[in-house]
Amino acid sequence: MRVPKRLLFVQPITTSPAFPNFQKTVLGKVPIGALKGIFTNISPSLDLVPVWGTKTSHRSTWDLMKSGDVVLFVRNNIIEYSSIVVDRAESALMGGSYTLWADSNYSLLIALDEVREFRLPIPQLNAMTGNSSKRVFRALSALSEEGSDRALDQLSGDLGEPLTFSPPIQFNEDAMKAALKKLEDNESSKATVVIRKEQDLLKGVLFQGRSLVECALCGREFAPGPFLWCCHIKPRAKCDALEKVNPSVVTPMCKLGCDDLYEAGFVFVDQCGIIQMNPNAAWTSSLEDYYQSNLVGRACSSFSPLNASFFEWHELNIE
Ligand SMILES: [Zn+2]
Repeated sequence: MRVPKRLLFVQPITTSPAFPNFQKTVLGKVPIGALKGIFTNISPSLDLVPVWGTKTSHRSTWDLMKSGDVVLFVRNNIIEYSSIVVDRAESALMGGSYTLWADSNYSLLIALDEVREFRLPIPQLNAMTGNSSKRVFRALSALSEEGSDRALDQLSGDLGEPLTFSPPIQFNEDAMKAALKKLEDNESSKATVVIRKEQDLLKGVLFQGRSLVECALCGREFAPGPFLWCCHIKPRAKCDALEKVNPSVVTPMCKLGCDDLYEAGFVFVDQCGIIQMNPNAAWTSSLEDYYQSNLVGRACSSFSPLNASFFEWHELNIE
């Protein structure tokens, strides 16, 4: 049987909305929850997946893609990123309640891995593949098998082998479970005692005995205590048993405004980790002053793949 060769694809992202879309869902990645039931070949243990999409007018090119192929993203005739195809799927769902791209329906989706910064002018790629040096890529394009072969031969050291997803970073689940089990065993069924001890455990992990800790939203430092709390990103009452003892479910927030604005849904953290204002909240001038002075344009300092899904829950559930 003939083994299909790895192909090389070129995707221009020079103009808007292509580049902001690329920043959002390839560099920023997509929470796995939004991709439920769409891809079959991605690891369910992942939190975030880089995803690209194209329109049905590019179906014949998209149809050629298979796991292990390489997609090069090009801006202004220079390749800036390389990536490996993991899976592709057609879906009108577009991430369910999570909006992948607001501008159009790119229903031919591609799950990627190994997105890497990479710099190579297109004329150099053309020289490698034996194409005319004048070839420009205006839309998603596939190189021929021979051209892909030649280029991959010369680029393989830089692109790496086709890779599967690296395992996600795990919190010490066993230690937390053991501590919780001990709690259940030792304590009476008094819920308040369990909650308090659980909170103590989470606090211990979060603050680690530090005397000064930064508020994840405004960035100001406080001593853990009355002014800085160990706050649930997703409310404890909405968490399942495992989420309740996941140290990533909490983050430090100050009681001088950030925690209350977050909890009341006036602000949320988007899937790029940026603090955003909820335009539907009942803002008054003093609250807006606080936002403008302390939060506008800031990134949440604790945002990571480990807590992105908790922030997403909050974003999707505020009014
Ligand atoms: Zn704060």
